[in-house]
This record gives sequence, structure tokens and C-alpha cells, in this order.
Amino acid sequence: MIQEYSGDEPEPLRSEWTLDLLNSRSELAAWVDGFGSPLHVVFPDQANRNYLQWRNELRTVYGDCEIQFALKACKSAALLRAFALAGAGADVSSAHEMTSAFANLVPVQRISMTGPAKSDHEVSLCIRNGIAIHVDCIEELKRILELAGTAGSIRSLFLRARPRSEPGSRFGMTEGQLMACLPLLEEAKVGRIGVSFHINDYKVETRAEQLRASIAFLRRLCAQGLPPGGIDIGGGYPIRYLERFDPAAYSRGVHWASMPKPGSYPYAPELAGSRHAAAVIQIALAEPADRGFLERYRLPIILQPGRSLLDQCGISAFNVIEVKELGDSRFAVVLDGMSFSLSETWFGADFVPPPAILPRQKRAAARHNALYFLLGRSCLESDV
Ligand SMILES: *Cc1c(COP(=O)(O)O)cnc(C)c1O
Repeated sequence: MIQEYSGDEPEPLRSEWTLDLLNSRSELAAWVDGFGSPLHVVFPDQANRNYLQWRNELRTVYGDCEIQFALKACKSAALLRAFALAGAGADVSSAHEMTSAFANLVPVQRISMTGPAKSDHEVSLCIRNGIAIHVDCIEELKRILELAGTAGSIRSLFLRARPRSEPGSRFGMTEGQLMACLPLLEEAKVGRIGVSFHINDYKVETRAEQLRASIAFLRRLCAQGLPPGGIDIGGGYPIRYLERFDPAAYSRGVHWASMPKPGSYPYAPELAGSRHAAAVIQIALAEPADRGFLERYRLPIILQPGRSLLDQCGISAFNVIEVKELGDSRFAVVLDGMSFSLSETWFGADFVPPPAILPRQKRAAARHNALYFLLGRSCLESDV
């Protein structure tokens, strides 16, 4: 039996395979003993299903969408291979991630190098293999074009726009800087030139507006006689972890550093994953002239979901090393692992979905009116 937290904690969503595994707890415990803690268990069939579900949903709003799995969300070769076999591409940001994409069957035409800081070596690797390169700034564009002179012509470039909603971002170019790239490209041997962005917020309208701005930019690019290459709308689509979540109630709750950060992550968004992405495209293409432009030039819309494509694709199991009393009815449950293993916790947010607890032996009952915090084993106070 899985022992759940009692009380008001929101219910986490769990797939059947996860529930089966949790219910067979001696098996999971044996795996943790054998492989070590933390143990990340992944389920490639779920990756296959998720990709097909995304593809089918996106087809309903635009005929030419490409999904590229963002490798930074998870390093599992098994999941990457499952995505690639189903037809997905890969969004990579280093030579290591590129190697992983090659080794796990992603064809080069479906790989994008989006990393904002690429070494000369990484740029040359992209040029020689015909991998689409995302350009972060004019300085980088000049360096890439220079390298192309020695390494060959460039199949596909994407100019990264700085989102209108993030004027202070260190990534991407302003509209003026994007326009300033065009004269440099007139001389160069580049097959196709697209535009890209990545937005750090979870509202449909923000991405839809940036997509409309991207279409406007491509039309200007076209008007200057350059070959348009599509729009990459990045990743960052929210994922649904919980049945229901009340941020107001949560912010009144208990927090390690007594600093609730409600809204850091929408744990139960109304529109999650592929439905969220489809809504962005549908809203942005409401204008028939915009849709007509994309269709006339056969321009793909490329999406790079990371976390949201991994929905229910795996679990992380941690051994408990110690339960220490901290005073004031607070207890530290020290895990054999670190908080960095769970990507939402990178952002300093309390992680809302409660864990499943699998007791190995008869143990002391949890105290009522006490607070239990899950802590990583590192020496950082913030590893919570
Ligand atoms: C982080 C990132 C992604 C993936 O983000 P998720 O939140 O995991 O979907 C995709 N593209 C770029 C450029 C990124 O920086």
C-alpha cells in the first residue's frame, strides 16, 4: 500500500504504470538497493504516447508543426530514443547533447542547436552536419558567418528574438537588432533563415503575441529577398502535476524558508502541454493573412517542449537516510539524493506535489501537528 499524506495536500496525478510500480514496493525497494539512490525510473512507452498525442493535437491547428524534444529537461537516452523513433526532433545546446541526439537516432534535419553560447567547435559541428543554428546576437552571427567560410555553407539559421514580454532578458535580439542582421545575411550562403524565441511564462497570450510578431518579421525578411525558414516558438509549456491546486491556500501554508512563492509554477493549469501549445498557435494564426503567408511559403512552426513532453514519463525514488528532529515540531527527512534531481526545484520554488512514501519496515508513526521537510544530502541550506 502507498501511504499518502493526509490533510489538504493536493492530489498528484500518477499514471497506471507509476501506481503499479509503487504498489509493488518490494520491487522498487530492491531496485533502489541494487542501483543506488536516487533512482530515476523511466517509461519509454509513455514518451511514445506523449509525442503522438502532441503531434495529433497540433495537427488540428496547423498542418506543419515539428516537435523537438529539449534535451536539457532530461538526460535519459531511453526516452530520447523513444521520442526519436516516434518522429520527434531534438533541441540541443552543447556538443554533448548533439552527440546524444545522434547516438539516439535523431536525424540531423530534426536537430536544432539553440544554446545561447556556442564554441567555435560547436558551430563548426553544426555547419558540417547541416544542423539548424539559433543565433543569439549580431556578434555571434558574424562569428558563425566567418566560420561558415571555412566549414562550408549553412543549411538553416534561426535568429532569436528577445521576447517583447522580457525586455530585460540577456537572450535574443531586439527588433532593431534583428533587422540589422539582414544585410549581413544578404551576402552569406544560408539556405533558410527563420526566427525563434523562448519565453519564461505560462500564459498562452504572451507566446501568441510573440508568434504574431515573428510572422511580421519573416514577412519583412521575405520582402528583402531572403529565403524564410520557419518559426521556432521554443519550449516552456506548463505540465499538469495535480488534480487541483489553490495557490492562495498554498501561500498561507508552511514553507521551509517561510517565503511562499506562489505562481512559481502552475501545478494545475487549465491548459497544459499540447493543449496549451495548440491554443498559442490557434490564437496567433487567427488572422487569415498570417496563416496564408506561412502556408504559401510552407513554413513550419517548430516547438521545443522539454518538461511538458515528459509528463508521466518517469519517477525518482530516494532512500531516506535519517529523520532528524529540528525543534519546534519540525523534522528533517534527509534523503539520499539532492533537490537538483527534480527540475522544478531548480527555480527555488517549494515543490508542491506530495511524495509517495513507501515504508520498508514497521516504523514510528508520524507525529501529528509536526512538520516534515524533505531535505537533500548536500551541505547547502537551500537543498530542500
Ligand atoms: C529550457 C528551454 C526549452 C525547454 O523548456 P521546458 O520548460 O523544459 O519545456 C526549450 N527551448 C529553449 C531555448 C530553452 O531554453
